[in-house]
Formats: sequence, structure tokens, C-alpha cells
Amino acid sequence: MLELTDLDVRYGAVRALRGLSLTVAEGEIVALLGNNGAGKSTALAAISGLVRPSAGRIVLDGREVTGASPPAMVAAGVVHVPEGRRIFSTLTVRENLQLGGYLVRDGAELERRIARVYDLLPRLAERRDQQGGTLSGGEQQMLAIGRGLVAGPRLLMLDEPSMGLAPLIVTAVMDVIRDINAAGTTVLLVEQNAKAALRIAHRGHVLDQGAVTLHAPAAELAADPRVIEAYLGA
Ligand code: ATP
Repeated sequence: MLELTDLDVRYGAVRALRGLSLTVAEGEIVALLGNNGAGKSTALAAISGLVRPSAGRIVLDGREVTGASPPAMVAAGVVHVPEGRRIFSTLTVRENLQLGGYLVRDGAELERRIARVYDLLPRLAERRDQQGGTLSGGEQQMLAIGRGLVAGPRLLMLDEPSMGLAPLIVTAVMDVIRDINAAGTTVLLVEQNAKAALRIAHRGHVLDQGAVTLHAPAAELAADPRVIEAYLGA
């Protein structure tokens, strides 16, 4: 579905990606692991059109989309849920979800999508009229994911959904991501929490200094001594 080849991204003098190559097949959950500053967020930003690569190619469904605009990528089914949730705290849960559907012209279709999010995330349904800022951290993360789903992704890209959440809540968020995948959405999951990500992922890529240093099925990565030492806590 998605193929990155030799992608370079620079921020001025900083080379955030240096020849990043990876693939995501339809139906997979692919984890992108690595330490702070490895380039994980930049990889998602490049795919969603927020930053322009200085070299390399991004191919979606066999079509080159390198340098496409963010709305064009959303229209192509690629939805990015950024790090830090960024929900609107003074808007209600329902209003936050409606914003995820800004490209959806058909009101009835938008309502169907919001109803599907409520089915998947019943807590959001219970709290639909509450302001986003009154939700717990885990609920805000669910809302950020729900808002992404309203955009109708075929490929959902999640940046550190576990950030700042207690272990039990991390498990709940990962279970939701697995449910979303089981319902047919392909997922590219950026995580510093390698353990949580590898529990649900099919495959994983480890990034270091802007390039992939290891990639393998998730179970293999979870058992790899290099991964255990660097990312799982030996
Ligand atoms: P984190 O988990 O901290 O977000 P990351 O793996 O997602 O880490 P990136 O955020 O992609 O890494 O950062 C990759 C490199 O690019 C780092 O050296 C970072 O300092 C740098 N960088 C990221 N964004 C910018 C920016 N807007 N301007 C300049 N440098 C940046």
C-alpha cells in the first residue's frame, strides 16, 4: 500500500531522515520504533505532506505522492493523528469529531462515520456533549483517534498514542488500535513504547538517526537481543 524509498528530510542543517526506506502492506499494523529524535515523527510528517522530502520517493497504491499536500493525502485516505493529541479543549467531543470530517461534504455520511466511532469507542458516545478539555488523558487520546477515523482513513498513522498514559490505559488504547485494524484499516504506529507497540503490530521497523536499522516481524523484533537491550529494557 505504502512504500518509502531512500527518503531524505532536512530541517536547515539537521538531517532528520537519511535514506529512510520502509513498506506498509494493506491490512497490517506496522510499528515504527526508535529513540527520541530518531526521525519517527518526521517520517509521518513526510508521508502526510507536512514536510517536503529533499530526496526519495513516497508511493501510495502504486502512485507517486511525494510532495503531495496534506489535504490531498487525506483525500487519498492517509490520516495522521499527531503526537500530543491536539484536540480542541473548549469544543465538545462531538464537535471535535465533526472537525475530523472537514472534507466530508455529505452530512448523512458524516453522521454515519461519527456513529461508527461511537460504536467503537462507547466512552466518547457517553461524553459526546462534554468539552474535550474535561476528558482524561486516555479519553483525549481516544478522541484524537476517533477524530482521525471520521476522516475515513485507509491508512491511519498514529504518533505516540501511549504518550503520558498509565500502563493500563496504554493497553486499552493499543486494544482499540487493534480493533480498528481488525475492522479493515491499515495502521502505521509510531511508538517509543516498543513493548506496547510490538504486542499489537505485525511488523516493526527500528529507526536510528533517520534510517531503518532493523526490520522484522513484530515477534522477532520483540525477541531480538538488540531490541531488548535498546528499547525493551534488558
Ligand atoms: P520524538 O519522539 O522526540 O518526536 P522522533 O523520532 O519523532 O522523536 P523527529 O521529531 O522526527 O524524531 O526528529 C528528528 C530530528 O529532526 C531530530 O534531530 C529533531 O531535533 C529534528 N527536528 C524535528 N523537527 C524539527 C524542526 N521543526 N526544526 C528543526 N529540527 C527538527
